[in-house]
Amino acid sequence: QTKRSLNVFDRLESEVRSYCRSFQTVFTKGSNAMLHDRNGKTYIDFFAGAGALNYGHNNPHIRTKLIDYLLEDGITHSLDMATDAKETFLLRFQETILKRRGLCYKVMFPGPTGTNSVESAFKIARKVTGRTNIVCFTNAFHGMSLGSLSATGNAFKRGGAGLPLSGTTFLPYDGYLGPLVDTTALLEKLLQDPGSGLDSPAAVIVETLQGEGGLAAASGKWLRSLERICRDNGILLIIDDVQMGCGRTGTFFSFESSGIQPDIVCLSKSIGGYGLPMALTLIKPEHDIWKPGEHNGTFRGNNLAFIAASEALRYWDDDRLAKQIRNHAEVIRDFLSRMASRYSDKIIEIRGKGMIQGLVFQQPEDASRLCKLLFERGVIMETSGPHDEVAKLMPPLTIEAEMLQKGLQKMESALVDMYT
Ligand code: PMP
Repeated sequence: QTKRSLNVFDRLESEVRSYCRSFQTVFTKGSNAMLHDRNGKTYIDFFAGAGALNYGHNNPHIRTKLIDYLLEDGITHSLDMATDAKETFLLRFQETILKRRGLCYKVMFPGPTGTNSVESAFKIARKVTGRTNIVCFTNAFHGMSLGSLSATGNAFKRGGAGLPLSGTTFLPYDGYLGPLVDTTALLEKLLQDPGSGLDSPAAVIVETLQGEGGLAAASGKWLRSLERICRDNGILLIIDDVQMGCGRTGTFFSFESSGIQPDIVCLSKSIGGYGLPMALTLIKPEHDIWKPGEHNGTFRGNNLAFIAASEALRYWDDDRLAKQIRNHAEVIRDFLSRMASRYSDKIIEIRGKGMIQGLVFQQPEDASRLCKLLFERGVIMETSGPHDEVAKLMPPLTIEAEMLQKGLQKMESALVDMYT
């Protein structure tokens, strides 16, 4: 009661200042794309836990499985022990996701978060190649621990902590130097030139679409070129699919349409199905050179997450969800195109793909203004990009068509009010 009357979370989200505090209320309930707050107000969720809630809040199919499991005294935590829940997940992931896509990976549990997956990817790449350096890209986001933060192209996120660590080299992402410059040519040139200072890297880490860095997307051609350069130089290619994986861009893995086969894939966020912490690192069988105990972590054994994750994979048994994503993505794209042409002096371009798309504003503060207005009107949306210049739409993949429309209508009227 004391806490409630102080209402501290209304203002802070947590008790320290490192959070952005954009959503100043206290949320109480959620179902699919709908949230409720303590004051009885409802919100449409166009944020989806930054991609951790692709299957919506309290997905009823997943919830039933979780409740049944708990009522049957299922093991909830099993560090270092095999369980039914783990086995079921692994078999289903191999069958439903990897085999159907002709992909061959061993699944590793690196810890509960995306950051853990990235760290484990760096570690395995360094172990396999015997090299230490990592190539990463402008505006990338890979996590908040020292290694992953070092590969994150955002000085603000480093929080003045004196990073990056040595051995990380930033190169321009696809499009960074304009649409006509193929920045992979720079990597190739640097690798061939002993005077470039780029010592043989262990790995190149890249997002196919930069979720935090402003929704820039790499073309298939650029990714294929990157893959070839990695192969030619004995460098492992890591795709960080933490935010773009699990269907966000339209296919389970975001790199599927490019035809590349990365050496390592990082997955987290929605892999846990119900917003439960879980991460995977997919590695090629020949790179499985771990000795027992060389990479551990207490919460790798979160069996509730395995139960939720197994049920979430059911969405990939057939192509119904993929179809729905395509339909929703088209609706979003049409809407954004309409807004971009109506406010062509205010909106620079549309970025993104599938169910992560956004508007790039001429004045960066307009993106934040829009999100603030939307919050007041019952839509949760965040900004992205180095200057927070992109308003980013990222609803649950399972959002109902009417709810999506309703959210877009609110966005339209917010834009009208901003610019008239
Ligand atoms: N990689 C990418 C691409 C991400 O978007 C994020 C989270 N936003 C991470 C890694 C880190 O994941 P986590 O916050 O779960 O540690």
